Amino acid sequence: MKAVYIESQGGVEVLQYGDLPEPQIGLYDVKVRVRACALNRLDVYTRSGGRGRNRDLTEPFILGIDIAGEVVEVGPEVTNTVVGQRVVLYPAVPCGQCRFCKAGQEHVCQKRQMLGSTLNGGYAEYVVAPSINVYPISDSLSFEEAAAMPTTFLPVWTILIKTAHLRPWHTVLVPSASAGVGAAAIQVGKNAVGATVIATTSSPEKIQLAYDEGADYVIDYTKENVAERVKEITNGEGVDAVVDHVGASFWPDGFASLTPGGYYGICGVTSGFKTELQMGAVFTKQVHIFGVSMGSQESMREIVNLANRGIIRGKVHKVFPLEQARQAHEMLEGMSFFGKLVLAP
Ligand SMILES: [Zn+2]
Repeated sequence: MKAVYIESQGGVEVLQYGDLPEPQIGLYDVKVRVRACALNRLDVYTRSGGRGRNRDLTEPFILGIDIAGEVVEVGPEVTNTVVGQRVVLYPAVPCGQCRFCKAGQEHVCQKRQMLGSTLNGGYAEYVVAPSINVYPISDSLSFEEAAAMPTTFLPVWTILIKTAHLRPWHTVLVPSASAGVGAAAIQVGKNAVGATVIATTSSPEKIQLAYDEGADYVIDYTKENVAERVKEITNGEGVDAVVDHVGASFWPDGFASLTPGGYYGICGVTSGFKTELQMGAVFTKQVHIFGVSMGSQESMREIVNLANRGIIRGKVHKVFPLEQARQAHEMLEGMSFFGKLVLAP
């Protein structure tokens, strides 16, 4: 099969396009003909070895976490899907044995594997995954839109729905709306909940796109003071929840914008991972600060259910043929886009 793989870590030049053997399925696995695989910042770290992802590669490794396609083969024990089914894949493969897995908190499993990160992923014509990772998608959802969803919507869902219990009368702050997570957070806040959404972004074009996604207010963080604007918009009350996928550069504004009793979810630190925390404010304002990495299978089911009904959908900026993975990675590192970049093997 055609695949894009790495045999060593480094710049975009380590991404090689060529032929690899097709993966074989086990008793409980499915084989999926990949139709779309969305790029993720984690792909860059796995490719480059940055952010603690240095590793020795003993054989060609296939990146690609967010995968949609058609089931082409099922293991003899598989009962939940059939050949020909259009599906999107839950990317994490928990160990199933640790105390978190046993408690139904498989998304906290510290031994979990991940498609495209520790298991071969979707930069290829075919991928194999456990059948429990498969979620059917409706014909109204394109493969590209579906592939753009798991790693963007799962952390957002965990923050806003599972933890902050966002309600229509709440307000949520979404920094950097142009990132996949940003667009997902606007949609969950607006379309799934009906809350008020304040987004930040950096250019007139992106501001319009953030409004198009459903934001009620959009702040240009290059020209305006975010914390002050949030204060004005919320009549001094602050926001009930923050979806922080940006990290250090956003923290001072984000934390200052949080209402007493509010929820501050951290699901990414693209701009840096160290900051100063006013510990006194944490208990006097009685705020909740918490970390989220992905989400549970239950959250995945709820997300796909809403997507199949057209209420939320992955935001796709551009689709590249598989052999242009290097160009796609260059664009991903350049940050000049709105939504997800997708490979179509
Ligand atoms: Zn586990």
